[in-house]
Amino acid sequence: IFSKLPDTQASIFSIMSECAAKENAINLSQGFPDFDCDPKLISFVNQYMTAGNNQYAPMAGLLSLRETIAEKVNFLYQKPINPDLEITITAGGTQAIFTTIAAVIQTGDEVIIFEPAYDSYRPTIELFGGKVVAVKLKSPEFKIDWEEVKSLFSERTKLMIINNPNNPSGKCLTKEDVLKLEDLVEQSNCLILSDEVYEHLVFDGRKHLSLLSSTRLAHRTFVIASFGKLIHATGWKIGYVIAPTELMIEFRKVHQFLVFSVNTPIQYAINDYLKDRNVYLQLNDFFQKKRDFLLEGLSGSRLKAIVPEGTYFLLADYSDLSEEKELTFAKRITSEYKVATIPVSAFYKDSLDQQVVRLCFAKKQETLEKAIENLIRIK
Ligand code: GLN
Repeated sequence: IFSKLPDTQASIFSIMSECAAKENAINLSQGFPDFDCDPKLISFVNQYMTAGNNQYAPMAGLLSLRETIAEKVNFLYQKPINPDLEITITAGGTQAIFTTIAAVIQTGDEVIIFEPAYDSYRPTIELFGGKVVAVKLKSPEFKIDWEEVKSLFSERTKLMIINNPNNPSGKCLTKEDVLKLEDLVEQSNCLILSDEVYEHLVFDGRKHLSLLSSTRLAHRTFVIASFGKLIHATGWKIGYVIAPTELMIEFRKVHQFLVFSVNTPIQYAINDYLKDRNVYLQLNDFFQKKRDFLLEGLSGSRLKAIVPEGTYFLLADYSDLSEEKELTFAKRITSEYKVATIPVSAFYKDSLDQQVVRLCFAKKQETLEKAIENLIRIK
C-alpha cells in the first residue's frame, strides 16, 4: 500500500457539507448558491440537447463560446485575446488549476502560494513533485509582505499562484500589489497562475484587477475563470483558462488526455446566455446586497465580521465567544445552532488557528435570515 498524498484528507468542503446535512443545519459552508440558475439557461440547454448537440465538443471548447469569452475579456479588461489559440473551456476552475499545474510543474520545481490558500493547490503541486513555498497572510488584514515574497523567490520558483479575489479572505489585490508582482518576476522565467474565479464578485464600486490587463504579466500568466460562479450553477462544472499561445499549447497537451473536452449542450447554452452583458454586469450588486444583509445581521451577534472586498464569502472572528479550535467550533455551531461554516485553518498547511470561520452568503434571503437568527443566539 502506498499513497502519493499521505497528508491529504477529504476536503473540508465535503466534511462540512456532510456535517450540515447530518445535523439538518443551514449550510453556509461549501461555496454554492441555494437558489437555482435562470430558467432561461435551462431552456437553452434543453433546446440544444433536443436539437441533437450531444456529441463531443472540439477539444478546446466550442469556438463560438470562446469568441464570446474573448469579447467579454476585451470589453472588461481591454485585452484582445485570440479565441482559437488562447482560450480553452474546462470542466470547472479546479480542473483548469490541476491541468495548469500538471503541464508546468516537474520534480523539484518550487511554487509560491499565499495562505490562506484554496485547498486544491498544495496537493496538486505535490502530486507532480513540486515543492510548495507558502507565504502566510494573517487575519484580519491578509496583507502581502512583498519583502517576504522576494526573500523566498529564486530561480527555482517555476510558478506563483495568485487568487484574486481571494477565497476565503475576500481580499482583492491592489494596484500596488500588482506593481510589486510585476517588478518581482520581471527578470525571471517564473509563470503565474491567476485564479480569478470570483472576478465578477467585487464590492463597493471596486474594479476587478485582472492580470490580463497587466501588459507586463499577461505573457507569463494562466488566468482561470469559472462559469459556476457566474451563472449560479456550480454543479455544471464548467470554466475556462486563458493563456498565451505557447503556454496554451502545453496546457492542451494535458487537457486532451484528462477530459478531452467538456459538456457540449451546456457550452452552447452558456454562449447564448452571455450575449446579454447584464448577466455579469449585475452580479456585483446582486451579491453585495447579500453581503450587506449578512454583515448587518451579524452586527447584532458576538461574531466580529471582516468585511469582504470580493467573493461570496465572509469571515467571522469568534474569539469573543470561545477559545475552541476552529474545526471544533464549526462542528459545535453546526450541531447546536444549526449553521455550518468552514474553519479557516483548513486553508493553511499547519492549521494556523485564528478563531475565524468562513460563511458563504450566496444564499436566498430567507436562508440568510434564518442563519442570522441562529447566529445571534450563540453565547
Ligand atoms: N470553491 C468552493 C468553496 O470554496 C468549493 C469547491 C469544492 O467544494 N470543491 O467552498
